[in-house]
Amino acid sequence: MKITELKGVGPETAARLEKLHLRSIEDLLFHFPLRYQDKTRIVPIGELRPGQAALVEGRVGDAHVAYTGRRVLIVRIGDDGGWLQLRFFHFSMAQKAGFQPRQRLYAYGEVRVARGGLEIIHPEYRLVGAHHAAPLERHYTPVYPTTEGLAQKSLRRLVRAAVAWFQKPENRLEELLPGEMTRQLGAPGAIATQEALCLLHEPPAGTDLALLTEGRHPARKRLAFEELLANILSLKRLRARQRRHKARALDGPGRLFQELAGALPFALTQAQQKVIAEILQDARRESPMMRLVQGDVGSGKTLVAVAALLQAIEAGFQAALMAPTEILAEQHYDNLRALLASSGVSVCALSGRQKTRARQAALRRIRDGQAQLIIGTHALFQEAVEFPRLAMIVVDEQHRFGVHQRLLLKEKGAHGELRPHQLIMTATPIPRSLAMTMYADLDYSVIDELPPGRKQIKTIALPETRRDEVIARLHESCRDGAQAYWVCPLIEESESLQCRAAEASYRHLQGVMPDLKLGLIHGNLHGDEKEAVMRAFKDGAVNVLVATTVIEVGVDVANATLMIIDNAERLGLAQLHQLRGRVGRGRRQSSCVLIYAPPLSDKAARRIRVMRKSNDGFEIAAEDMRLRGPGEIMGTRQAGQIHFRVADLSQDAEQVQQVLKVADDFAARHPRRAEKLTQRWLGRFARYAEV
Ligand code: ADP
Ligand code: MG
Repeated sequence: MKITELKGVGPETAARLEKLHLRSIEDLLFHFPLRYQDKTRIVPIGELRPGQAALVEGRVGDAHVAYTGRRVLIVRIGDDGGWLQLRFFHFSMAQKAGFQPRQRLYAYGEVRVARGGLEIIHPEYRLVGAHHAAPLERHYTPVYPTTEGLAQKSLRRLVRAAVAWFQKPENRLEELLPGEMTRQLGAPGAIATQEALCLLHEPPAGTDLALLTEGRHPARKRLAFEELLANILSLKRLRARQRRHKARALDGPGRLFQELAGALPFALTQAQQKVIAEILQDARRESPMMRLVQGDVGSGKTLVAVAALLQAIEAGFQAALMAPTEILAEQHYDNLRALLASSGVSVCALSGRQKTRARQAALRRIRDGQAQLIIGTHALFQEAVEFPRLAMIVVDEQHRFGVHQRLLLKEKGAHGELRPHQLIMTATPIPRSLAMTMYADLDYSVIDELPPGRKQIKTIALPETRRDEVIARLHESCRDGAQAYWVCPLIEESESLQCRAAEASYRHLQGVMPDLKLGLIHGNLHGDEKEAVMRAFKDGAVNVLVATTVIEVGVDVANATLMIIDNAERLGLAQLHQLRGRVGRGRRQSSCVLIYAPPLSDKAARRIRVMRKSNDGFEIAAEDMRLRGPGEIMGTRQAGQIHFRVADLSQDAEQVQQVLKVADDFAARHPRRAEKLTQRWLGRFARYAEV
């Protein structure tokens, strides 16, 4: 059923839901919470712990506006056992007037350490009369990934409506796993798909929340199994289909790349050479290469990509390089244009944010075959782009793309039975065995060596109470000519909130270091604004680049030697490692400072310990696998080429093994159910794979 048939969904809301790929009521049911809030009970103020999100009840002591560089409204509330401060940066006078002394209220938010006590910044709150009953929820409150203009509340209401719709007997989801299969699954097998879904959206008060958020709840396990099965079925089918296609044999001698490599100020590492040889061997065949290259941050993947791209260009074809972000695409464009300047290769950029004129010109050059190397974001596979002679596609930092986006691009280069060769590069180090199963449609190479002379990045961790010291040291180093990143990875439901957090840090840092030049970069800036900031940073005109995690992948500014990550406790190991990898790219000693808000959870403490101890991506990845829980970090569910909704490879390795055992048999004996299952979990993307 279409989503517009739900009450309150007009064209505008539908368009926003579309951004989240939510089109049908079923899509809503499969849109899972990131985390939960506990508004099922009131926590006495005296029992609050920092880091905890809690519902509190109290009376206003006093409310006043303070000026600490910016206007803040500070409200003190208390109950029998203690005091708590509420702090607001955005507020109206009417709002302030509501906080009369003795006014009773409920507030919900994350508790932090403040000067002289505890506080909640921007709590949700409700003012109530003296005898108003507590607004306790019967379920834990889900928090969903959402998008600009779609309030968490509205989305929550819609999902709730979808859940209710599916509860009606005539709408219940069909059980797709045969009984003999569910019996083998143990506890997760005993829960019906329908029940499992409802539980994830509306966990009743008293559900073991730790079990749920750490991914060990049987309901989640059940859904993870189904999702993994759907994905593996789809990948197996894809792979079978790929094998039927043909490709152009790119059998040139590789002179173009050899010339380029010969002119570099360094020699390729053994590992780079080995992987390039593997790629060229594939590219010389008449069947399309489908190869994944894994290489730690800084292992020199770009040059490996260039070898593949030039192999196609040398043979007279077009080659495309696709990057996951505008920043990265622009950086590749700048670098490769410089690198290829003397080779005569014509390089062309295509981005979603180009001005119409520039875009038209680029499209024309691509269409008439003049452009040999095309660099861009996913804008590359939009309809208006026509590649007459595309023979090689390199997808950089694959973990940001889904398998289906790659397929779309590949189909762009299709000519009858011919498909372009494809190389996928990722810095997400996953253990080989897992890579082999999850990239079931790809061959696999590893760049297992870093260029010589790289120094270990010194990593220290400091509590946020020492942030001022960090800033002072940063200030000093920058006065001595160093360049630094300051990353604010506040995890919020929407990107725009993240951007606002970065803006606030930017203002604060600029305020305390007025003599330095600061730059700000986040996802909401326009392409040319981002480009200008990145360029200024690269040129050394900007000392400190304040950023969201948009700079996480690929950004390469060799002069930057200092990486400061604020709220580091909120990030997962893979992300921390990626971010840290933005420094230590030149020969100078680099450092990384992790600022965290104590007290650390056990897992966060372990992550920070691992970061201090190790610089090795594979070691960190192995540790990451042990530590990670779903929903704990953003992007956890997006492993490799598969965008998971509930499954998590670090949690569900056992499920993967189970799935691999039963998948073929299931597909053979229950083709109709297998089809429905892939349809259910992969939706229109699964249909695409049919093409
Ligand atoms: P990543 O694998 O993270 O994409 P890059 O391709 O961006 O790494 O390379 C990181 C840096 O290392 C770049 O500045 C690049 O010029 C340099 N580099 C690449 N290969 C070598 C090598 N064999 N020796 C020395 N430096 C290299
Ligand atoms: Mg790279």
